[in-house]
Amino acid sequence: MIRFINVLKNYTNVIALNNVSLEVEQGEFAYLVGPSGAGKSTLIKLLTCEERLTTGSLTIGNIDVKQLPDHKIPDFRRQIGVIPQDFFLIEGLTIYKNLVYVLKAIETERKLIKEKALRALEEVGMLEFKNFYPSELSVGQIQKIAIARAILNEPKILLADEPTGNLDSKSAIEVMKILYQLNQKGTTILMATHNSTIVNT
Ligand code: ADP
Repeated sequence: MIRFINVLKNYTNVIALNNVSLEVEQGEFAYLVGPSGAGKSTLIKLLTCEERLTTGSLTIGNIDVKQLPDHKIPDFRRQIGVIPQDFFLIEGLTIYKNLVYVLKAIETERKLIKEKALRALEEVGMLEFKNFYPSELSVGQIQKIAIARAILNEPKILLADEPTGNLDSKSAIEVMKILYQLNQKGTTILMATHNSTIVNT
C-alpha cells in the first residue's frame, strides 16, 4: 500500500532521509521508531505531500506521489487520515461543531455531515462529549478528537505522528487501543514514535 524506494529528502542544509526503502502492506500496523531528528516527521510529510521528495520513488496504492501535480494534492490528502503533532481545535466551537467545520471545509455532501461527525466521535468513544468545548477536555480526550478528525472520511490509511507524545500512560494506552481497533477494522496504520516501550507493549 505504501512503498518507498531509495528515497532521499534534502532540506537546505540537512539530509533528513537518505536512501530509505520500505513497504507497508494493506491492513498492517507499522511503527516508525527512532530518536528525535531521525526523520520520522519528514517521512510522514512526504506521504501527505506537505514536503516533496528529492530523489527516489514513493507510491501509495497506485498513485505515484512524486509525479502528483500540486493541484491534485488536496484531493489526494482527503484519502489519507493524518493525526498531526500540532493538532488544534477552534476554541469557540463545540467538539461536534469543530468536526462539522472540517467536513464543510472539505466540501462534504451536506446530508452526510452529521452522520460522519457522529460516527467518528463514536469510533473514538467520545460521543458523549460532543457538546463540550475544547477547553473542557483533557489532553488525552483532545487526542481522541484528533483521531476522530483524521477518520472523518473513513481513510484506508492513517498516519500518526507521535500520537502518544504528550500523554500520560493511561491516556496513551487508551489512544493505542483506539488505533488498534481501527486497524482491526482494516485501516492501514503508520505510526511514528520515539517511545519503544509503547511499541513493545
Ligand atoms: P523526527 O520527526 O524523527 O524528529 P524530523 O523529520 O523532524 O525528525 O527531522 C529530520 C531532520 O530534518 C532533522 O535534522 C531536522 O532538523 C531536519 N528538518 C526537519 N524539518 C526541516 C525543515 N523544514 N527545514 C530544515 N530542516 C528540517
